[in-house]
Amino acid sequence: MSQRKTIDDLFIHLLSDIYSAEKQLTRALAKLSRTASAPELANAFKTHLEETQGQVERIDKVVEATGFRLKRMKCVAMEGLIEEATELIDEIEKGPVLDAGLVAAAQKVEHYEIAAYGSLCAIGKQIGQQEAVKLLKETLEEEKAADLKLTQFAEAAGNQKAAEKATAKSTAKATEKQ
Ligand code: ZN
Ligand code: FE
Ligand code: FE
Ligand code: FE
Repeated sequence: MSQRKTIDDLFIHLLSDIYSAEKQLTRALAKLSRTASAPELANAFKTHLEETQGQVERIDKVVEATGFRLKRMKCVAMEGLIEEATELIDEIEKGPVLDAGLVAAAQKVEHYEIAAYGSLCAIGKQIGQQEAVKLLKETLEEEKAADLKLTQFAEAAGNQKAAEKATAKSTAKATEKQ
């Protein structure tokens, strides 16, 4: 049965969804941080875990600023994305390959969040909630930065692999010549 809903209701729905997503993520990021082998990656997850805790508090501020009340709901998309990360952790032994998998899983999460906060900013603006939009934009920027950091880690890891291969090749050649 469908009900008539307002754009305010939609905003509340989307805000409640991302609130659930962030809460689920605080647990998941702790696990990712424990699972990553590269210290830089483990640290990146830990830093984003701390940011995520701040993002939950920021949503509380959005609630205060708007006077809206959050709905009790579960973000099933985040549940699924976390489940996908868990599948990788169960299937791949710890090391650089799992690290690459964790980066991929985490970037899916960041992109979901970027989409969610982007929409919330647009709708918040539409309904004239300037203070809320300001807060949501801060989080949006943190999510973009977290995503970029993961891209940079993946690229650095890829470059290192290529360099190792080149060194192995030239060592093999040098041995051949002897
Ligand atoms: Zn969500
Ligand atoms: Fe987040
Ligand atoms: Fe969701
Ligand atoms: Fe995030």
